[in-house]
Order: sequence, then structure tokens, then C-alpha cells
Amino acid sequence: MLLKNSTLLTLYPPSLDQTTDLRIENGVITERGGNLQSGDGEEVHDFTGKYIMPGLPCAHTHMYSSLARGMPPPAEPPKNFPEVLQKIWWRLDRSLDEESIYYSALVGAIEAIRWGTTLLIDHHASPSYIPNSLDVIKRAYEDVGIRGVLCYEVTDRGGMEKRDQGLEENERFIKANRDNPLIRGIVGAHASFTLGNDSLQKCAALAGDCNTGVHIHVAEDVCDINDAKEKYNTDLLSRLDSYGILREGSIFAHCIHLGQDDYPRIRDAGTWMVHNVRSNMNNNVGYAPVLRFGDRAGLGTDGFPADMFEDAKLMFFKMRDADIRPDPATLANFITGGAKIASEIFGMKIGSLEKNAAADLIVLDYEPPTPLTEDNVLFHFLFGMRSSMVNSVMVNGKWVVRDGKVNGVDVESAYKEAAKAAGDLWERMKLEIGNMK
Ligand SMILES: [Zn+2]
Repeated sequence: MLLKNSTLLTLYPPSLDQTTDLRIENGVITERGGNLQSGDGEEVHDFTGKYIMPGLPCAHTHMYSSLARGMPPPAEPPKNFPEVLQKIWWRLDRSLDEESIYYSALVGAIEAIRWGTTLLIDHHASPSYIPNSLDVIKRAYEDVGIRGVLCYEVTDRGGMEKRDQGLEENERFIKANRDNPLIRGIVGAHASFTLGNDSLQKCAALAGDCNTGVHIHVAEDVCDINDAKEKYNTDLLSRLDSYGILREGSIFAHCIHLGQDDYPRIRDAGTWMVHNVRSNMNNNVGYAPVLRFGDRAGLGTDGFPADMFEDAKLMFFKMRDADIRPDPATLANFITGGAKIASEIFGMKIGSLEKNAAADLIVLDYEPPTPLTEDNVLFHFLFGMRSSMVNSVMVNGKWVVRDGKVNGVDVESAYKEAAKAAGDLWERMKLEIGNMK
């Protein structure tokens, strides 16, 4: 397939290349240049006046919370972060069944792909439906055609039997999808404060066995720091380090309350740090020292809808409000970080428009009212471009959205089914209240 006459744009490193063509073969960009000639029978798309940029990544999310939108609030509002988990998210995840897991992932993926997010690094929990739960999400991702990295959240909160089921689900899924072009697995773990020493050790051993990292929440709330100190008489990062969770390829979501010296230690270990600005503001858990993340940084939505145009803006304005003056490279590094994580996991270049990169890209209808140059491309992205300008989306060389239409699924009937599944889910959650402490 040949994509002709577009302007190619990347945020990191910033670049702008006018009237350029891309040749796509077998899911990969095989040629880039001006005036490429089409071969016999080759599909040609003319994108004169349009911009093409790499698809946007969401580096940490929970698709299982997609059906939470508008759900009834708990009788008593949560007073702190542990209560947010107990009264809201753990009540929701215990109520998930196969149908609600599928429709959560489906509507989350439909929204993401329409907004130009081509990669979701997901962290899943459904304690009443653990074995094969990741296959249900995978089915939804494949139906939509979105790229994903999936894991099951191992935790002690439901007892040892469920913990072991979580470990087995990760192992099964990672091994079954080693060569999958679209979906991969990683070991998932909830957070230090819901995992005993034995559980941490088992997660790290599995990661070693599968040659992958551990995707875990780290220092989201100060309760995580206090738990390590009070129960184990150590600091949080040393605990994660001594049990092998701090390792190459691990993904630490949040990283808010760590010590100053912990951040270079995490980078040196080859672990990623993912900032989730919207979620942190919503939960009032504190503000991460974002400038300490360095080059192992990414941006996630932590279960909120994956519109990365919007979350990039939120990240920027939160920084400015905190009197931080980030340089464009720092901002672009966060926005595109998830693609670097995926590049390591898939073993190929993702988030690039260069030759041999995965053909994951978005076509934008953007009309700049001021000069757009290589030097100011990020500021056009932050102040002018939005997800409603996404015209078409390609993942792994296939058009998954064309002229605003999602190709793989009937969106109207998917939303109808999802609303039904949400109603049933909310009913089960009401019954759950009886089991609450
Ligand atoms: Zn999270």
C-alpha cells in the first residue's frame, strides 16, 4: 500500500517532512520518500493536505473500568485512597464477568482508536473471573484492531488461591502470545501494599522465566510507602528491588512519593515510570516529581478514556500550574514514552515513521493558522490539535479507522450491548455492598 503526498510529523524527535510518501507492506513501513511510484495492483491513498503522525500510546490503563462511567457512587464517599480502592474499584472488579470484561475492553478500545491511540498498555483485574480473562480482552482488542500489552494484576487481597490463579493467567498469556504481532503479555502485580514477600518473589521469578518485566503500581499514595516501612521495616523501592521487581522492562505506574535518589535508581535498572496526571488529580494522591523521571518516562490514563491529545494537555498545564517549565523534549518524551516501552516488548520500532517501523499511524485533518515548523511542532500538538481531527488510523499496516469509521466492529450495536452489560454490572455491584466491610 502506498500513502502519498502527506506531511509526516513526529513529536520525538520533533520533525516535519512535507509531501512525503510511505510504502506499507506486511504491517511495516518499508519505504519513505518523495514521489514513490506505485507498483502493479498496489493500493494508493492520496493524503494531500493531511498530516500523518505515529499513533499515540497510552502507557498505563485499566480497560476494565470503561463501564464505570456514570455508575452509582458509594453510599459514603471515600475518605482516602485505600477507601477509593475498597469502596469503588475493588467493588467493581469483583463484579466483572466474561461479558462485562469483553464490553469494557471493547468500548475502551473503540474510543481509544477513534482518538488516535493505537497502543494500550493495560493492567487487568477481575477476581471473580481470572483464568482466561486476558483472552477476553485480547478478543476485544483484535476485533477493534488495536495494539496491546496485557497483564493480570496479581495480589494477595483475595487470598492465595486467587493470587496463584493470577500468576498462572500471566504465565499462560505471555507464553501463548510470544509471537503475536498485535498483542503481548507482561507480568502484572497490583502494588507492594497488597503483596507479601512470597508473592513479590513469585512475580519476579515469573518475569525472569518469561524474560519480561513487572507492571505494577508504585508509590501512588503515601500508604504504599508507609506499608513498606511499618510491615517490612524498609523503604518501598528497596523492598521492590530486593525481591526482583525493580528490573529491566518493568513498568512502575505513578512513582509519586519516592525519595529523590530512587528515580535514578529506577532508570538505571531499565524500569519505566508512567505518569498518570488525570488520575492523580482525581484521587488527590499528590503530584509526581515529573522532571526526575528522565528518559524512562511515559504517560498513562489509569483507566480514564485514552484520549492522549487531552491528557498531554492536562500534563502540560498541571506542570505549569506547579511552576514547572518543561522543555519540549521532556514533554514529547512523556507523550511518546509508551511507544518506546512497546518497542522493547515487541522487539521492533513502534512510534516512528522511519523505514522498518511498525505501520501504526494516524492521519490528521489539521489546518495550522500559524506557521508550523519542526521547532514548534509540539506546541501545535498541545494548543491546536485534538482527537476530533483524527481522520484515519492504521495499526500493524491495516486501516482500523477510515474517514472516522471503525472498520472492525459495528459501533452502534457494540455500545448498545455495552450499556446492557453495564446495567447488569452495576446491579451486581449493589449486591456487593452487602459483602463490604
Ligand atoms: Zn493503575
